[in-house]
Amino acid sequence: MAGPIIVAEGLAKDYRLGSHTVHALRGLTVTIERGEFIAVMGPSGSGKSTFMNLLGCLDTPTAGRYVLGGEDVAGLSPDALARIRNTKIGFVFQQFNLLPRTSALENVELPLQYAGVPARDRRARARARLAAVGLADRESHHPSQLSGGQQQRVAIARALVNEPAVILADEPTGNLDTRTSVEVLALMQRLNREGLTIVLVTHEQDIAAYASRVLSFRDGRLRSDERVASPLDAERVLASLPVEEEAA
Ligand code: ADP
Repeated sequence: MAGPIIVAEGLAKDYRLGSHTVHALRGLTVTIERGEFIAVMGPSGSGKSTFMNLLGCLDTPTAGRYVLGGEDVAGLSPDALARIRNTKIGFVFQQFNLLPRTSALENVELPLQYAGVPARDRRARARARLAAVGLADRESHHPSQLSGGQQQRVAIARALVNEPAVILADEPTGNLDTRTSVEVLALMQRLNREGLTIVLVTHEQDIAAYASRVLSFRDGRLRSDERVASPLDAERVLASLPVEEEAA
C-alpha cells in the first residue's frame, strides 16, 4: 500500500486529575514513512508513553488526527481499535510479557488465536516466525528456560506473527546486557531492512544510535526530529564486542 504508515496531526492528550488538567501531549504533528526505524527519546514525563499508547490504539486522543496505514483511527470505537491493534500493530515490551507456563511456540501462536486463525495454520505460522528469529530449536521451552535475549526474540516473533504494519517497542533492551541488547537490535535492523516499520522508545542515546530517525520529546511536544546520517550497524558492533561464555 502506498503512502505513509503513520500520520499524526495536532495529536493531543489531556488527563484530568481532579480539578487539574495534565497536558501529556500538546498537539503533535509527525509523519512516519513505511520502512523507517524511529527512536523516540525524551526525559521522564515528556509524553513518550502517551504517544506510544495513541500510536498503539491503546488510548484515544483528546484532539487531533491519527491515520494508521491510510485509516483514520482517532474516532473509532474500542472494538474497532482492538481489531486494529490485533491486525496492524506488534508490541514489544521491556519485560517481554510472555505467558510463563506456556511454550515459546504457544506464546507466538497467541495473537493468531485471538485473530481466529485455525489451529493448524497457527502452528505453522508460529513455527516459521520462531525459526526466523533463530529459535527453531527452542519451540517447547518455557520462558523461564530461556535467556533474556531469547525471551525477547520470542516476544519479537509473537509481535510479527500477524504480519503487522508497524512494531512498537517500549525499551525493548532495557532488561538486557550490552551484548544481548545489540543482538536484539541486529534482529530489529534486519527486520527493518526487510521492510518492517519500527518505533522504539529508549532513554539511551547508545540505543537510539541504531535508528534512522530520532524524535525527541519534551513537555508533551516534539523538541527535535532528526534523521541519522549513518546509524550504527548492530552486526558490525557485535563483531567488535568481546565474545562471552554464553549459557545456551
Ligand atoms: P513519558 O513516557 O515520557 O515518561 P508520559 O507520557 O508517561 O511520559 O507522561 C506525560 C505526562 O502525562 C506526565 O506529566 C504524566 O504524569 C502524565 N500522565 C501520563 N499518564 C497519565 C494518566 N493516566 N493520568 C494522569 N496523568 C498522566
